[in-house]
Amino acid sequence: MKHADLLDRYAQLTVRAGLNITPGQQLLITAPLDAVDLVRRITHHAYKAGCTLVTCMYSDEEATLSRYEQAIDPSFDTAPAWLFNGMAEAFRGGAARLAIIGENPALLAGQDPAKVARANKARSIAYKPAIELITTAAINWCVISCATPALAQSVFPGLPPAEALEKLWAAIFKCTRADLADPIAAWEKHSAALKARTDFLNARRYSALKYTAPGTDFTLGLVDGHLWKGGASKAKNGVIYNANIPTEEVFTMPHRERADGTVRATKPLSYNGTFIDGISVRFEKGRIVEAHAEKGEDVFRKMIESDEGAARLGEVALVPNSSPISASGIVFNETLFDENAASHIAVGQCYSTNLDGAEKMSKEQLLAVGANSSIIHVDWMIGSGEMDVDGVFADGRSEPLMRKGEWAQEVA
Ligand code: ZN
Ligand code: ZN
Repeated sequence: MKHADLLDRYAQLTVRAGLNITPGQQLLITAPLDAVDLVRRITHHAYKAGCTLVTCMYSDEEATLSRYEQAIDPSFDTAPAWLFNGMAEAFRGGAARLAIIGENPALLAGQDPAKVARANKARSIAYKPAIELITTAAINWCVISCATPALAQSVFPGLPPAEALEKLWAAIFKCTRADLADPIAAWEKHSAALKARTDFLNARRYSALKYTAPGTDFTLGLVDGHLWKGGASKAKNGVIYNANIPTEEVFTMPHRERADGTVRATKPLSYNGTFIDGISVRFEKGRIVEAHAEKGEDVFRKMIESDEGAARLGEVALVPNSSPISASGIVFNETLFDENAASHIAVGQCYSTNLDGAEKMSKEQLLAVGANSSIIHVDWMIGSGEMDVDGVFADGRSEPLMRKGEWAQEVA
């Protein structure tokens, strides 16, 4: 199939299986400049689906670099709160949200880590009201990715630029199932399989998960009343949507004060333009008390110092090692893909949808039951073909949940 046709299918898949735009809804998109062809196809399909207005805000990496090279010092404590407040207002008014990612993961590698950390923090604080509407699923939203020259070059550094870009597109189409005869039907089937897995996990009522792998010996408690989620979900506006394309994970809420032991990351993490590799941390009573990284250690440490909740867990996700993203053998240098290649944990903000009755609880009650709160939410990969996971019951008994990176039990 021609690239233009695949791109069109991918756009259609995003609008229908991802966002599931309803007639009369507005759509707010953020995208890198290099995603313009994809944004145009998505815009076309969104209007066709009944969107009243599509607004895209593009980001420009050269402009970002200019800031680091030229801006006066107070710039790095500045964020466009007015813009983020406007986004929050759009979501409160019912607009759907699409984020298209494809940034150069090493864009800020040569910049002052202190400035990067300050800019990230200012942005996270200003963005929080809008992000909260996303994490509480006030509206249907979706994150997809776009092959851009810079990302392609970082994924396939040895290849000529045009070839690298083509190869990255092919991998994206494959991992998102956009290259299948009926991508939307394929998504429905996939979503049903994830639902069967979450039903199984929700019935087990584990109290904790225990991980064993090279460099990892770690137990993490789950919040009482935790809910496993995966695949499609229902937003408060009633729309069934897929928040990530691709998605292979089932995930739930860890207890912010119950994580102990050592964890080693199995893939690099790209965090707001910095490449962090070789992460190893030690948890005590839910908090990271020791942190090392072979690359980007400064940025990683500053990240987990963003606020009180930044060194504690907000999400735990399980992904079999045989997922299509893992099977591709490609490290995408992008969390959206890489998190679906491996089991992962996230420090920072939890998803209230992972807790039964969360919408009726105050901030204080949420903290008291163990739900974490932070201005950040950053996933990093800890799974591999060498990882075993046990489900631990409240009475201390345990059973195999994953062996050598694969599910120990068949469901449905
Ligand atoms: Zn996740
Ligand atoms: Zn996450």
